[in-house]
Amino acid sequence: MVSTQRKAVALISGGLDSLLAAKAVMEQGVHVEGINFYTGFCVEGHTHAIRKKDKAKPKRNNALWVAEQLGIKLHIVDVIEEYKDIVINPSHGYGAHMNPCLDCKGFMVKKAHQWIDEHGFDFIITGEVIGQRPMSQRKDTMPVIARESGAGDLLVRPLCAQHLPPTLPEQEGWLDREKLFDFSGRTRKPQMALAEKYGFEDYAQPAGGCCFLTDEHYSKKFVDLWDARGERKYELDDIMLLKVGRHIRPRKHFKIIISREEGENNFLSGYRKMFASLKTTSHAGPLALLDGELTDDDIELAARIVARYSQGRSAEKVELEFTGKDGVSRLMEVVPMPPSQVQEDWHI
Ligand code: SF4
Repeated sequence: MVSTQRKAVALISGGLDSLLAAKAVMEQGVHVEGINFYTGFCVEGHTHAIRKKDKAKPKRNNALWVAEQLGIKLHIVDVIEEYKDIVINPSHGYGAHMNPCLDCKGFMVKKAHQWIDEHGFDFIITGEVIGQRPMSQRKDTMPVIARESGAGDLLVRPLCAQHLPPTLPEQEGWLDREKLFDFSGRTRKPQMALAEKYGFEDYAQPAGGCCFLTDEHYSKKFVDLWDARGERKYELDDIMLLKVGRHIRPRKHFKIIISREEGENNFLSGYRKMFASLKTTSHAGPLALLDGELTDDDIELAARIVARYSQGRSAEKVELEFTGKDGVSRLMEVVPMPPSQVQEDWHI
């Protein structure tokens, strides 16, 4: 009898759960490849890669690292444009912050379902665990993801499969249900024990989730962006810039993004053609981008704030170079703003 090796695609976030889920299925002789969706909000060591002080920390793409550990092919799929609708109009709402986890998971499984159709694969694997996350990984929301994604019983969650109805791969005997797992709840102990059994070390342990939308401060800056613009829209550059620098909005119609160190300075420099900017010239200091349409009075105010974050904060006067969006520069001199005048609610 000729046996056909079954093929599955595993959603790889870069965390431990998806690593273990893929491995558990590979152990049963299934050919597994990984898929990772790039939304623009992914954490993936982004700020570590920018900040100079984090230079010593390893910079790695965890999804690629997981694929390497497993010895599988990884498909990285850019979903930046399509994903906008998930973030802007999530039908199931947001989690604790701006994270639309339930819609997000449904979207990713749907994309994976399309992918297996196009590539002749048999089923989909995720590292979800019942009760692990408050929004997307609950017993009552797991069927929602399977149903709304259209994947139905082609969606296998190996780590908690024994708590769920048998999927097609289990019914067909492509997978032995007894060799899948019954993990549940927020404890990470079973995963850690399984990682040890499989010999995995040095895996990533994301605290809140796999993307910036679970971060309170990031979400606040994101909401501020929409409020200031009066519309719920964003471009990739917007959401990248929210990951970097100190964001200060002294007036509703403009915001200042001030680099906090050299790495951020370099990163923000790449955006100087898109924004007006300020840079101290008489003293060492940060680069600042100005987001909004600014009057001369606004520029003066912004310059005083930027001077306050430079080495000249105690000087009588600080000289700065202002460069408009048209690329034309001029020098200006201002009195640095005393800390007492920098209002708390300007900080986003
Ligand atoms: S944490 Fe982010 S990437 Fe992960 S499911 Fe939630 S919204 Fe999606």
